[in-house]
Amino acid sequence: MSDVFSPDGLLAATLPGFEYRPQQAYMASLVFETLASGGITLIEAGTGTGKSLAYLFPAVRFALETGERVVVSTNTINLQEQLVHKDIPFVRNVFAPELKVALVKGWQNYLCLHRYQNALQGSGDLFEPEAELQLAAVREWVAAGPEEGSLSELPFSPSPSLWSSICAESDTCLRQECPLYEHCFLFKARRQMEDSHLLVVNHHLLFADVAVRGVLGWQSEAVLPPYSHLIIDEAHHVEDVATDHLGNRLSELGMRQLLGRIVRRRRRGELGGYAGRLVTKLPSLGTAATSIMERIYSDLLPNVGKAEELASTFFAALSEWAGDRNGREEGESAWAIVQDATWRTEICPAADELSSALRTVADELSHLCTKLRDAGDLNAQAHEGEALAARARRTAEVLDWLVAADDPDSVFWLEREGGRKPIRLCSAPVEIGPHLASWLRQAIRSVVMCSATLTVNGSFDYVTGR
Ligand code: SF4
Repeated sequence: MSDVFSPDGLLAATLPGFEYRPQQAYMASLVFETLASGGITLIEAGTGTGKSLAYLFPAVRFALETGERVVVSTNTINLQEQLVHKDIPFVRNVFAPELKVALVKGWQNYLCLHRYQNALQGSGDLFEPEAELQLAAVREWVAAGPEEGSLSELPFSPSPSLWSSICAESDTCLRQECPLYEHCFLFKARRQMEDSHLLVVNHHLLFADVAVRGVLGWQSEAVLPPYSHLIIDEAHHVEDVATDHLGNRLSELGMRQLLGRIVRRRRRGELGGYAGRLVTKLPSLGTAATSIMERIYSDLLPNVGKAEELASTFFAALSEWAGDRNGREEGESAWAIVQDATWRTEICPAADELSSALRTVADELSHLCTKLRDAGDLNAQAHEGEALAARARRTAEVLDWLVAADDPDSVFWLEREGGRKPIRLCSAPVEIGPHLASWLRQAIRSVVMCSATLTVNGSFDYVTGR
């Protein structure tokens, strides 16, 4: 990379105020060597090294020469914006006009036109009537033709309740079967991503992708398209972010949102959520509609109601269990799970009942979806019902696992975020090393991890050990 970083190289000729920095030139050559030969390189580069250019130039040269995609991950939005709006345009201008770059965002950052249309027709998943006021503003935004259809492009901050009811979701998405697939913002972004030399992501998205691949297989397509070369900036955050994504969380709010998504009673007693939308579509099925309608009212609704009651009982019991312990240590907001007598005789049976109610709801949904598929219509509704059934089953599995709390490779605890909010059950792997090692061995050929602070007492031993 000396043609770029040397005292009379490309940067000296094009970057106003450029000062030759041997550390920067050395880092760039290390990055290029790692990408070309494979392996893992850790680099501690203090402020002022100019490290973003020291990895961008070699990454761009490597990607253009080999046609292999390189992923660059950062922890903070500030750095991501600096890369996307300043450093990468500079590299493109002076070095590689043909460079194609995509800033990758998670599914839930994009508007789903299909769910948005449901919301407009009054049959979406809106939880609060107030959120419907904001829907009018979203409508104006859509009518004006947003470029990428993402949350950051919206001129106002929608309530989380509104956005979560109209954003794209990987499990409920209809993909090619969606009537709006050709106009879909998310798939437009994904096509751009497939076609890019460089993908810029954040650590949360990177490890969400790793977590999905860990379940589906390392070579599968998850959040990101397949890649073999990775540069992680601000790498000192990796352990925390990875631990977060490789663990499990279960909150009362999440449980209520799931059940409310399936069946919701609106203010005037009308049926909302998935069941409500399904009921309005059923007349198109003709004679098959009657038995499906009966099943919704006689089985699905009471079972969801029962699961909601059991969820209240279970989380109240958890709060009480934590409250008893709070008395001993004032102000504590996280409690390690201990299988004491109360846990075994009260929490475990309440969890069993809730888990079995969730499985019953999932079975009911699956049964309805089979009937919808047999009737040969409403495939979009069948697809959504199956995705919700899978979510309910997965929630039951996570609940069983968290309450049993008996995996020696994980830690289990209860917490109240901020000390006041509703309680949630959590787990995290004791060590992320084995998980990451398996990912690195099987899916990645080269990794560069850099940061201003990676060593402890001048050694990389700690971070390599973790
Ligand atoms: S393809 Fe998926 S994300 Fe796109 S509009 Fe359709 S359902 Fe929504």
